[in-house]
Amino acid sequence: MLALRIENLRKSYGALTVLKGIDLTVANGDVVAVIGRSGSGKSTMLRCINGLEQFQEGAIEVAGHKVDRSGANLRALRREVGMVFQSYNLFPHLNVAENITLAPRVVKGLPREQCAALVHEVLARVGLADKAGAYPDQLSGGQQQRVAIARSLAMKPKVMLFDEVTSALDPELTGEVLKTISELARAGMTMLLVTHEMGFARRVANRTVFMHQGTVWEEGRSEDIFANPRTPELRCFIAPDL
Ligand code: ADP
Ligand code: MG
Repeated sequence: MLALRIENLRKSYGALTVLKGIDLTVANGDVVAVIGRSGSGKSTMLRCINGLEQFQEGAIEVAGHKVDRSGANLRALRREVGMVFQSYNLFPHLNVAENITLAPRVVKGLPREQCAALVHEVLARVGLADKAGAYPDQLSGGQQQRVAIARSLAMKPKVMLFDEVTSALDPELTGEVLKTISELARAGMTMLLVTHEMGFARRVANRTVFMHQGTVWEEGRSEDIFANPRTPELRCFIAPDL
């Protein structure tokens, strides 16, 4: 089964057409980097996949669940898709463990006695096993972003979406977050990651999608996309000085 299938996705904001017929499939275990200029529609595509935006035309299926254009079957969908944004938005008045278990308890009815094990499991995956009792303001930006990733993992998603998760971080903190993501990739997590970190995309993603003006302009194996861009638009994007 495919993890994600997008067919002819079209999305406008009023008169502005932002996605002009996107086709994309993602197999289980794929790590797909999404690159492209600001305004090319990357975030909008991710938000459509997660049901955060309605769209006008096309079809999206995540792990066999159809994403309804009008937002009808969102609950089933949200169990399958985890999303991490640039701003991590942890609840400041809850500690790390409480941030992580809130959704599993409320949405999935996770019994209290299973909370500690879940917290330990997901914090271990992001390298923060000793931080369960910490409050967000006691953590660095990089650690907070890793907690946000752990919080997403706690819902056991089939697909993870990352939207420029290191853009708001100081340069010295991006490395630890990228390392966490590449470890998830190695562990077989299916993911779509919007990133400006070209070296990271090339190294970690097995496929790369270049979006341009609301379309998938080029896509292929990351090696090929970066080593042999076919279009002038992609060449210019990855090596603007040439
Ligand atoms: P990217 O993530 O690639 O930078 P976005 O998906 O954020 O691109 O934006 C694509 C286009 O859609 C841009 O022109 C942006 O201004 C526009 N856009 C995004 N969100 C909205 C919105 N809520 N209302 C109107 N226009 C929007
Ligand atoms: Mg964006």
